[in-house]
Amino acid sequence: MAAADGWLLRLRPPEARVDGPALRRLSAIARRHADGAVLLTRRAKLELRGIRDPDATTAALRAAGWMEDETTAALPDQIISPATDIDTAAIADAMTVHQRLHAALSGRDATLDLPDKFAVAIDGGGRLGVPEVHADIRLDALDGTHWRLAVAGSRASATSLGCWQANALTAAVTALIDRFAAAQTAGAPAPRRMRDLLARDGAQRLAEACPPPRANESRSAPRAGGPPILGYHDGLGHVIAFAFGRIGADALETIADGLARRGEHLRLLPDRRVLLPAADANDSAALRAAGALDTPGDPRLGLAACIGRGGCAQATTATRADALALAARAPTVAGAGEVGLHVSGCAKGCAHRRPAAVTLVGRAGGYDVVVAGAPDEPPLWTELAVAAAGSRLAALERIHVAQRQDGETPLAVFRRLGRQRLLELSEAEIAGE
Ligand code: SF4
Repeated sequence: MAAADGWLLRLRPPEARVDGPALRRLSAIARRHADGAVLLTRRAKLELRGIRDPDATTAALRAAGWMEDETTAALPDQIISPATDIDTAAIADAMTVHQRLHAALSGRDATLDLPDKFAVAIDGGGRLGVPEVHADIRLDALDGTHWRLAVAGSRASATSLGCWQANALTAAVTALIDRFAAAQTAGAPAPRRMRDLLARDGAQRLAEACPPPRANESRSAPRAGGPPILGYHDGLGHVIAFAFGRIGADALETIADGLARRGEHLRLLPDRRVLLPAADANDSAALRAAGALDTPGDPRLGLAACIGRGGCAQATTATRADALALAARAPTVAGAGEVGLHVSGCAKGCAHRRPAAVTLVGRAGGYDVVVAGAPDEPPLWTELAVAAAGSRLAALERIHVAQRQDGETPLAVFRRLGRQRLLELSEAEIAGE
């Protein structure tokens, strides 16, 4: 896929696991053919960016065992809770469910032709469950043998189709995928995602498309999920993240060394996190020195930024350096667990096209400031130097702290206040500096 900073390639490691030697091979390819880093995505995949020669990169990845074959590449993403084998709080084994579904889908004659973003979430619960993942199809463990099958949403928001035993899940999910695929070719309007098919056909008809036996309906409410975890956790290992999801060369080497020494595989988690099983305190210090983040609320977790000046001809600002420098001016805005501060080289918004709490949009060496909007929405302030943008950001931080209500995200606070009120409050804050 072409991007403003060169070609990008997304990779799906089998079972969301990578061992030390495979990571070393990938790191070498990133240095030789891309921008040197490996990126974590929000859907638990890996990405190489800044690729100069896509054919040579693909050949190198294939030789290193990193490319999927054509049949597997056509399968939908399966976002799994990848550590149910070691997480003592897990409810059920997600990996076996994933392996059965993968085998059933890849063993069929016809190649699936599904939308790129079509995804199945397989959530065995526990400390590393995937409750926040919005998927077309969700499987949520209810107990050791029963799973809820649901569509179009997260663990909390998906619409339940009922409860199935683990050994009947593969047939139910493949039937649902087949129904979606058939609807896509059955004439207009074709559903683009499962939510469209749900709106058209309703939950009852979708449930009837899945072969019985369904299990007891009263079991069909999964437990609520906790917030994503970070840091060291007994019995699991170390959960880490990186600013912008970018794992640089030093960190890749440190992680690969640790995995090889312990004979372990890293596990990819949604929201650009990684579990390093059985990592110890020595590994943690080295990882932090290489840029790993492991403290919940760290404002660098909520940053998004494109490559900026030097990597894209459209950019006139050093987006990532500015984002890192400015994050400290708005720690609760940036560190609230969503994209809080987006620094974009221009209104195209390659790093994050959707609304963030605050978006700085580069223009002529300075920034426009969009609050509670996407990069191409009208700014609250225009053409500010970096220092002035930082001052507005600090004012927004104080407004957020003073005005937030229980459970409200920074984006929701700023949306509730609205443009006029935000301008009034900001002027008062800046006048009082
Ligand atoms: S957002 Fe604009 S400046 Fe940044 S990479 Fe995309 S096109 Fe380039």
